[in-house]
Amino acid sequence: MDIRVGVGWDIHRLERGLPLVLGGVEIPHTHGLRGHSDADALTHAAVDALLGAASLGDIGTLFPDTDPAYEGADSLELLKEAARRVRKRFAIMHIDSTVKAQMPLLRPHIPKMRKRMAEAAGIEIERMSVKAKTGERVGPVGRGEAIEAEAAATLRLIEGAPSASNDSPSSTSFPREQES
Ligand code: MG
Repeated sequence: MDIRVGVGWDIHRLERGLPLVLGGVEIPHTHGLRGHSDADALTHAAVDALLGAASLGDIGTLFPDTDPAYEGADSLELLKEAARRVRKRFAIMHIDSTVKAQMPLLRPHIPKMRKRMAEAAGIEIERMSVKAKTGERVGPVGRGEAIEAEAAATLRLIEGAPSASNDSPSSTSFPREQES
């Protein structure tokens, strides 16, 4: 079995009066995240983890923040599109993620975030994990200046999938293991 793991990370600045969207869920708060899209740092980290595991580049290459098409974009749509591209060659086995915010308390919103992100990625909710932490009152997260997120995606290469055009010669000639 050819298993690939990708990691993703993102951070957005918190500003008063902006909407706060994390994992596709709008969370009531005095502050929200600044960004070109809806600035959903958690979903962005998941997108980068998926793209990384598939060696498909990153979110900024696929959905450039200079492109007006993505201004105010629903990041779940970006996750849906990234997952669609990844699924051409891979099965998405699992996505794990952590979102770090000093305020507000995110734990009550986790079930809804998991549901929305799992739907966008086209996976069962059991394969979508979201964890929440504070910044322990240190650093940009702890001071309430930003919200940060990281994610890891696990993919399985589909047997007989077309080879990727951006695979290096060394990776395409790598000896295949016998399927058990
Ligand atoms: Mg981002």
